[in-house]
Amino acid sequence: MAYPSRICVVCSEPFELKPDKPGFANQCPACSSPKRLEPWEVRRANRERKRLEIEAKIQSLAADKQCAEGRGQESVAADCEARIKWLRRYQRAAS
Ligand SMILES: [Zn+2]
Repeated sequence: MAYPSRICVVCSEPFELKPDKPGFANQCPACSSPKRLEPWEVRRANRERKRLEIEAKIQSLAADKQCAEGRGQESVAADCEARIKWLRRYQRAAS
């Protein structure tokens, strides 16, 4: 079955206007598909990036803590532990 042929107003490529084609009728499927990320996708990506940042920070604090423990610097180790706990709590609250 033949569909009406159109010329895309964005890229000037001919395309078939199918009834289920999403987007505008004067734009080809490639041009009418959303290129911009949806707000929720941006939010999710930001949240994931933040989560990874915090995770990396926790890893680095855990290494510092181990190092301080090895040198017998208990107050430094305790400080690292407190910061790790704070970050974990922050992460739980944010997710
Ligand atoms: Zn196009």
